[in-house]
Amino acid sequence: MVAVLGAPVEMTAECVKTNLLGLTQAKLDEFFITLGEKRFRTQQIMKWIYHFGVSSIDEMSNVSKVLRERLKSCADIRGPEVVSTDFSGDGTCKWVVRVASGSCVETVYIPDGKRGTLCVSSQAGCVLDCSFCSTGKQGFNSDLTVAEIIGQVWLAAKSFNSVPAKSDRAITNVVMMGMGEPLLNFDNVIDAMNLMMDDFGYGLSKRRVTLSTSGVVPAMRRMIGLTDVSLAVSLHAPNDALRNQLVPLNKKYPLKTLLAAVHDYMSVLPDKRRVVTFEYVLLKGVNDQPEHAMQMIYLLKDVPCKINLIPFNQFFSSGYERPSNNAIRRFQVMLQQKGFNVTVRRTRGGDIDAACGQLVGQVQDRTRRSVRYRDQQQKGSEAELINVINMAS
Ligand code: SF4
Repeated sequence: MVAVLGAPVEMTAECVKTNLLGLTQAKLDEFFITLGEKRFRTQQIMKWIYHFGVSSIDEMSNVSKVLRERLKSCADIRGPEVVSTDFSGDGTCKWVVRVASGSCVETVYIPDGKRGTLCVSSQAGCVLDCSFCSTGKQGFNSDLTVAEIIGQVWLAAKSFNSVPAKSDRAITNVVMMGMGEPLLNFDNVIDAMNLMMDDFGYGLSKRRVTLSTSGVVPAMRRMIGLTDVSLAVSLHAPNDALRNQLVPLNKKYPLKTLLAAVHDYMSVLPDKRRVVTFEYVLLKGVNDQPEHAMQMIYLLKDVPCKINLIPFNQFFSSGYERPSNNAIRRFQVMLQQKGFNVTVRRTRGGDIDAACGQLVGQVQDRTRRSVRYRDQQQKGSEAELINVINMAS
């Protein structure tokens, strides 16, 4: 008999081993109890996996040979399969990893002085279809498992030889801002973030783990009291009419409902200095005008926050353009003059398609949305071609 989390099962040739990567302390405790082992094994094994990045039970040299053999018969450590790794000229690194569903997702590392931020994906594709987002155009395939989410941190830390317990570690911050809407994969994302913050995991402070949501209000409310990670909200528009176009989820959870949920999450955090971050992708002629800045000032006047402006990063047939530097600066200054803390995100990793909003992976789309977009693009190209022919004749 072999113990596989929660239920002892008969070991057969087809039996799937328990993946130790991605088990929280509580779940690993449960695993060892089922094996008849002491709880201290949990922390011992977690250190090997997350602090030292081992992928083989044989490497756990302070675990007896007998226990290692026993563990090997029923468990292993399986990170996501790396399909490719690209390095940008600016130091940004992008990994494409294959997940169990067969789709590929992307993880991006952005070094910036002493800070190293890892942008992690939570889903293969996304159902939400924000109009400016290349991930949304891929459709949706699957939620990532805890192992597939924390596995992105694991492989990045391994590749930099970064040990969490050291002060000069490469990954200082993790943002759940890669492919997918994290709150639509709630339980797995919460477990993965707990492992990021666990001292026997990556030991990151709650301020350095950020969950970014486009506004799944019921799930934001579920977070209250359950986690205290930093919150970022993809705002992108200062009024409901425009946000309905850019972030269709807004039709279900409009701005008033969204801001109430933000307030309720932030108000229970013990440290009153913590603020929510609003992400705002700037689209030329769409949401970058002075009237939008004015509306934003009014909308957020009572919300302690930071605003992160993200000049749009072009991708093929997006239909949007990046505003001029003058327009970006004008928008920023208008908000700053009213006392807002406003940053403009520098484009990083643009040469390897790793910049914000450019992540596509290879999603085996179950929604057929990607096919519809391809058809539209094709029709668009045909129309353009006819136009060129007409002009030439
Ligand atoms: S912006 Fe985020 S929520 Fe919207 S489609 Fe893209 S991945 Fe999904």
